[in-house]
Amino acid sequence: MKPFEYISPTALKDVPALLTGNAVVMAGGSDLLGLMKEGIVQPSRVVNLKNVAELKGIQPARGGLRIGAVVTLAALLENSDIRQRYPALATAAHEAGPPQVRNVGTVGGELCQRPHCYYFRVLNAPACTRRGGAQCPAATAEGLSKWHAIFANDRTPDVSASDLAPALIAYGASVSILGADGKERTLPLEQFFVNDPQKETVLGAQEIVTAVTLPAVASGTKGHFIKFKERDSYDFALVSVAVVVRKQGETVRDARVVLGGVAPTPWRSKEAEAAVVGKPLTEQTATAAGEAAVKAARPLKDNAYKVQLARVLIKRALLATA
Ligand SMILES: Cc1cc2nc3c(=O)[nH]c(=O)nc-3n(C[C@H](O)[C@H](O)[C@H](O)COP(=O)(O)OP(=O)(O)OC[C@H]3O[C@@H](n4cnc5c(N)ncnc54)[C@H](O)[C@@H]3O)c2cc1C
Ligand code: SF4
Repeated sequence: MKPFEYISPTALKDVPALLTGNAVVMAGGSDLLGLMKEGIVQPSRVVNLKNVAELKGIQPARGGLRIGAVVTLAALLENSDIRQRYPALATAAHEAGPPQVRNVGTVGGELCQRPHCYYFRVLNAPACTRRGGAQCPAATAEGLSKWHAIFANDRTPDVSASDLAPALIAYGASVSILGADGKERTLPLEQFFVNDPQKETVLGAQEIVTAVTLPAVASGTKGHFIKFKERDSYDFALVSVAVVVRKQGETVRDARVVLGGVAPTPWRSKEAEAAVVGKPLTEQTATAAGEAAVKAARPLKDNAYKVQLARVLIKRALLATA
């Protein structure tokens, strides 16, 4: 690992000025340090966020909750408000890594984790577009595309691995970002992720995530998260699905269906949502939602199996909220 300067500010106002050159922020380090050890990220300065007071804690906010960026996955999972009011998020937090990772990994770091594509993570693998190479080895005839995207996969078919993101987006969460000018801006989390070969989020070089805010939950709302992975103990999602449904009587009034592991960004399926809104949730409408969601899928050489997984998981997640 190349030598680097390490700075640990305690006040948020001091952070942007520290993020010059190729400086990076670190929270739990569970993702960043691996990339640094491999030589894939070589910062001259690491700015630790975990001692910044303004980034800590889970607080009530306009009937919902504001979750600080350095709240750990374990703290999120153990919070009684989250468990009772946002159960799909609690399940997603439990899925976002083994206990060792959940104890150090943070909400901000989980949302900003880099792609887990083999070609990106291993230094002596053929250099990919995301590492400044000329092409995507995963998309070549010899490349392995088993874990890759089935939607929007024409540029960089790596997948968004975050388990929190689909659940947070399904609950309508927003993200707050501190800019280089010291001002905070807030946008729907759905707009935070970008399908861009140069970066995975809208964050600029001197910007950081400060918090994620969950809106109040309307009565009649139920949420569910399902993740399918190869290894049962812990593993990244082959496909994950978060659904949040609000019913009035037997009729679905609102629905959000968001998938992980299928596209370079969390993938909201408005087609699946439209298939159930205004109708009761039955085997038939839930099946139709799964079918509608995968119509736009364009699998690569090795990942057609994900189409069936997405279809079935959407159906199961919706029926779990019936
Ligand atoms: C063995 C293992 C298994 C895993 N399995 C899963 C899984 O199944 N599902 C899943 O979703 N994740 C999984 N992960 C990823 C894990 O969730 C992340 O490593 C962790 O959440 C990252 O949090 P961190 O605080 O340690 O981030 P760090 O490693 O500190 O940072 C990660 C990245 O985010 C940036 N960053 C951190 N905080 C901020 C911020 N506030 N604003 C802007 N940028 C920031 C850093 O610069 C870095 O690029 C796994 C990780 C490991 C090691
Ligand atoms: S899928 Fe993305 S990260 Fe993987 S090799 Fe292609 S460009 Fe690189």
